Amino acid sequence: MEKPYVVGIDIGGTNTVFGVVDARGTILYSGSIKTGKYADVNDYVAELAKGLKSVIDQAGGPDKIKGVGVGAPNGNFFNGCIEFAPNLPWKGKIPLAQLISEQIDGIPVALTNDANAAGIGEMTYGAARGMKDFIMITLGTGVGSGIVINGQMVYGHDGFAGELGHTIIRRENGRLCGCGRHGCLETYCSATGVARSAREFLTKSTEPSLLRDIPAENITSKDVYDAAVKGDKIAQDIFEFTGTILGEALADFIAFSSPEAIVLFGGLAKAGDYIFKPIQKAIDDNVLNIYKGKTKLLASELKDSDAAVLGASALGWELRDIK
Ligand SMILES: [Zn+2]
Repeated sequence: MEKPYVVGIDIGGTNTVFGVVDARGTILYSGSIKTGKYADVNDYVAELAKGLKSVIDQAGGPDKIKGVGVGAPNGNFFNGCIEFAPNLPWKGKIPLAQLISEQIDGIPVALTNDANAAGIGEMTYGAARGMKDFIMITLGTGVGSGIVINGQMVYGHDGFAGELGHTIIRRENGRLCGCGRHGCLETYCSATGVARSAREFLTKSTEPSLLRDIPAENITSKDVYDAAVKGDKIAQDIFEFTGTILGEALADFIAFSSPEAIVLFGGLAKAGDYIFKPIQKAIDDNVLNIYKGKTKLLASELKDSDAAVLGASALGWELRDIK
């Protein structure tokens, strides 16, 4: 009998969320634990396994589970390890997929980074259903990406392919990035990048803005969006600036793999026309002629609260291909 469910686990710096998912992308049973509470990864896995067993039992037991997918920062699909993840409490190279599998009756576990998981989720349940070539861009605290070519996630020779957020898009006076280099896409087009732009824009001009009511260090990309919706000129200019930079970068990415679509995920992707219009314009202005008008720009169709678990779970279906 075909096993009807998969389990998705999303590991974030603060919380780990998990759930049992069916083939249509419905999360049936879910739970969460605090990632940061466990200095020792073995204690963390033990607690996670307790939660997993509980939701797996609710779903009818291990025999019903096809596989478990994990999305984690710096997760390496090839060896199932988290490698030197800056925002997780455990240092070095952690064989997390194996540790989890051992605790849940040997159900196979696959692991990848969170942006790749989002891409697989989008391909399985979301806006990229039926597509063989697309690029997923996640716009969160950072900018992540998953590149799918011919129906396969591109992992590269070492498992770390697709760090488009760290392509350098400003060679002169580029902003300092968390990776230690300057001018990465992420420093402009992540949620934190937008907040950074807001502080710059407010310093550079004396124009009135709703954003001036907020202490500069507390401004978030959501504040910029709220102000833009209310007609705030500076806020709208910030989106114009952000979207233009992102669109210029996407025009280059299109030249790499000629994707059918680019799917945007994350808080910024919900800013609608404020961000999509300048992105689209910058793509059209910059893309090579042969690609013009061929690549769709789409917003993710995965529900925000579910997306991370769904994305990770989609990896669980793929386990049939690996074994
Ligand atoms: Zn960087």
